[in-house]
Amino acid sequence: MRVFKFGGASVKDPASVQNVARIIKDQHGTEPLVVVLSAMDKTTNALEKLCGCFMEGDKQGMLMMFEKIKTMHLQVARGLFPDHTHPVFSVLEQSFYQLFYYINEPPGNNYNYEYDRIVSTGEMVSSQIISTYLKETGLHNQLFAAQKLFITDANFRDATVDWILTSQTIQEQLIPYLQKSKDADRPPLVTTQGFIGGTSQGFTTTLGREGSDFSAAIIAYALNASELVIWKDVPGLLNADPKILKDTVLLENISYQEAIELSYYGATVIHPNTLKPLLSKNIPLRVKSFAHPSLPGSLINNNESNDKQVPSYIFKFKQVLVSIFSLDFSFIAEHKLSRIFADFASHGVKMNLMQNSALSFSACFDHDKTKTPALLRDLKKNFHVKYNANLELITVRHYTRACIDKLIKGREVVLEQKSRTTLQMVVRKKT
Ligand code: ASP
Ligand code: MG
Repeated sequence: MRVFKFGGASVKDPASVQNVARIIKDQHGTEPLVVVLSAMDKTTNALEKLCGCFMEGDKQGMLMMFEKIKTMHLQVARGLFPDHTHPVFSVLEQSFYQLFYYINEPPGNNYNYEYDRIVSTGEMVSSQIISTYLKETGLHNQLFAAQKLFITDANFRDATVDWILTSQTIQEQLIPYLQKSKDADRPPLVTTQGFIGGTSQGFTTTLGREGSDFSAAIIAYALNASELVIWKDVPGLLNADPKILKDTVLLENISYQEAIELSYYGATVIHPNTLKPLLSKNIPLRVKSFAHPSLPGSLINNNESNDKQVPSYIFKFKQVLVSIFSLDFSFIAEHKLSRIFADFASHGVKMNLMQNSALSFSACFDHDKTKTPALLRDLKKNFHVKYNANLELITVRHYTRACIDKLIKGREVVLEQKSRTTLQMVVRKKT
């Protein structure tokens, strides 16, 4: 059994949905397949806006967003179903009517609850269109409602999955379907929505933005899948953001641990939440390009032997570097450090890098226009504080001398830290 996940960019218009159908047809193979679907294109952002207007009582803005979202989906459906009397149109009308009806009542005061109720519409309508289209092209499939598969607590908008109940439910609901029709011409195909869950009382929840990779990993975990494939608009995992560095290299194979490290330092690879369930059952993850489905993409598994082959670069901009000294020139030892850490924690500021000496402690963090001044103000109550803003933090995994030389060209290194595997430099552009 395998799991495929298609994100918003892979289902953004009729041609992309047709491409998804082609990928499923060509790559289904002989094993049963579960396909996890996201909302189309930027629908989640649009629904977030709609929800904002709804909560603020901006009826005009809300209706404008509603029309925009509905029109976009109907256009995609019209592009896929030339017969405009196809039953899919009444299914969509009904989903949009439900949303319309809902937002015409005054909102309750729990924003997160309203958010989940509204924003989940994106995945619902996207899966209705795609599941129906797949059937239309001969890819018979059963659409399962994610609310009934992913059982969560009621922490709306960032719900926590109940692993035991969820695994059980997924197995109970999907396995009978995945095991049947073995004699049919194609192995069974299941479709469901990513990002959405439900409480055992039946309330809709969501798992946090970009949550559908996580949904796909949960299914893979529950069903002991042989592989999870995430189809993306990039060739796979690259060793740097191509918007920042030219000559990026595809990471053909890295370990789960390496991928988790990369994302810890700020690479927007795969979220550790997605990797952990796969790691615990040793399920390989492939990241492949939906535009070039025959290319191998990147493989993340338990093989660590290729991790060191190419250096990976992570750039963080708008960094603040603060140096903290005690007022009486005494050592910065444990009790002072704990005071400093308490200040960072109470302002919710994460240290991206830290270093200490006898008389000072330095830390680098993301600038935030409200948190930074508030933190500095509190630190100054107990310490002497100096800081620099507008710096860059460069992290290099598996660095070499040559790559360091290249990076520091035109940059002044303000602070540097090295371990055997990782180099971090706080730098300033030379003017
Ligand atoms: N549609 C949701 C989002 O855009 C979830 C996902 O695509 O992963 O965040
Ligand atoms: Mg997405």
